[in-house]
Amino acid sequence: MATSEKISMEDIFDRLKALQDVLSEKYGVEALIEEAPKELVNQESLLEQLKKEYIELNASYEETRTKVGKLKVDLAEAEAAREKGEKGMDSITTHREYEILQKEIDDATMLEQTVRKELQKEEKSMTAIDEQIKEKEQMINGQETELNEKKQALSEKTESFKAKLDDLNKQKEELEPGIDPDIIFKFERIIKSKQGKGIVAVKGNVCDGCHMILPAQFANEVRNGEKIVFCPYCSRILFYQDVPEGENEYLAMPDTGSLADDDLLEEDEDFDPDREDGADNDDTIKDLDF
Ligand SMILES: [Zn+2]
Repeated sequence: MATSEKISMEDIFDRLKALQDVLSEKYGVEALIEEAPKELVNQESLLEQLKKEYIELNASYEETRTKVGKLKVDLAEAEAAREKGEKGMDSITTHREYEILQKEIDDATMLEQTVRKELQKEEKSMTAIDEQIKEKEQMINGQETELNEKKQALSEKTESFKAKLDDLNKQKEELEPGIDPDIIFKFERIIKSKQGKGIVAVKGNVCDGCHMILPAQFANEVRNGEKIVFCPYCSRILFYQDVPEGENEYLAMPDTGSLADDDLLEEDEDFDPDREDGADNDDTIKDLDF
């Protein structure tokens, strides 16, 4: 282990405990920064939906407007036909001519009425669509204003998170010198995967992180405090803590000797960060993204 000689193990344990607090806060803040934009997703998709509906309404308005234009032409033609027939009445001479002309006038009048009715219907529809368009416009404007305000608030919030993160990174840098970078790297991974706990006490023979009973020999190594020892079960760094009389139910337990702790420790020290299989660690380590 490449720990500096100037720094005592006691000091290292103290710094790791402080670093644990800094790191778990740092990961918390990082998670907040990552989560923040998701707050707006629903509102953004609502706005998108409104804009889509707005476009559809406009298309429907245009279609109706074209229909109205055509109906107006039809109406003018029917009117003209009727008026022409009515004027023709002045110059007829026979009953037969009268009958033919009257039929033309009747047909034109009927067409005129039909077209006029259809035109009124379409014009009404145009007005209704126009109102819907205006309504939709208001909704879009309202949503956009709200969304922009939220974006602004969010960016301020994120800025303050980032400032906090800078501060935490500085604290991290101050705590790290003199501690083996491999230990720190592992420690960071453990804290990330264990959500906060990277260094825990051994009370009696029991790891306070995973509550597994450690072999007595292993626990003694922790008690000696001469090197960094990782829990073979949960991979957390262990430090020794005295347990008040009476609470120490596990101290009397014999060493089972079933755990090949030496092997585990050796593998631990050859820890390769690029290894994905995590064979030398517990399952939670595998879940980390690297
Ligand atoms: Zn443990």
